Amino acid sequence: MYDNNKRVAIVTGGGSGIGLAIAQKFVDNGIETIVIGRNEKKLSDAKQLLGERCHPINHDVSDLASLPSLVDNIIRDFGQIDILVNNAGINMKKDFTETTDEDFQQVINTNLTAVFSLSRAVVKHMIPQGKGSIINISSMAAQYGMPRVISYSASKAAIDGITRAMAVELSPKGIRINAIAPGFIATAMTAVALDSDPERKNKALGRTPMGHLGQPSDIGDAALFLCSDAAKYITGVILPVDGGNSIGF
Ligand code: NDP
Repeated sequence: MYDNNKRVAIVTGGGSGIGLAIAQKFVDNGIETIVIGRNEKKLSDAKQLLGERCHPINHDVSDLASLPSLVDNIIRDFGQIDILVNNAGINMKKDFTETTDEDFQQVINTNLTAVFSLSRAVVKHMIPQGKGSIINISSMAAQYGMPRVISYSASKAAIDGITRAMAVELSPKGIRINAIAPGFIATAMTAVALDSDPERKNKALGRTPMGHLGQPSDIGDAALFLCSDAAKYITGVILPVDGGNSIGF
């Protein structure tokens, strides 16, 4: 039986960076939050930080065949899934000509195919509930061209596409689908991409009207809003949370 008095969320990649900040907002707002990742230490640190409403599960979302049973087990243990945040992602910075087919496929598998497969498994349970909210994490790499991230750009542009396609098909069934497009947010992933490349960092900040990197909690606030009743008439949007980066000159 669906319990109206509780909310259950899954946050993939919830053990670090943006995902951890989203999980923190959820837990602080009384949402039972399942955080999924592959690294045991990250997960136990997240549990330590977030407390009793945080439920870590060690799972590799790129193992597509295992996702339906992952979701079935969550339903068995928690009874329902109200929110899915598809946040887990990997980046790969390589010259276009150096990127192998395997590199390309690896990024697509984690950042795109796993989002599709996990969402499909979760939606099968949300449809009988008659409600649900899914948030995909996109990127500025889907909004404009960035050099040396060909597979990542492909994956994130496709995330915007599936967000819209899922929204038109699933919104009539009570399931809202939205995406957040973070600008440059201070996390480990950005440190790897920008700290070794001061020119790229200056360029990123130079076209960010607010003039500084965002914090993971800025994305957490947007995710909390999008999955709340305050956003009950919002579906199919790609919300930039970027200090103006996407409209900067
Ligand atoms: P992090 O590297 O800090 O976090 C990525 C998370 O994804 C980790 O917790 C990692 O956990 C998890 N993860 C990766 N692969 C898998 C997998 N196969 N199965 C399960 N979990 C996995 O990066 P960010 O927090 O910066 O990025 C989070 C999301 O935000 C990504 O989708 C990224 O593309 C997006 N983004 C980030 C921006 C930024 O400026 N930081 C800008 C735009 C978008 P583990 O290692 O335990 O598997």
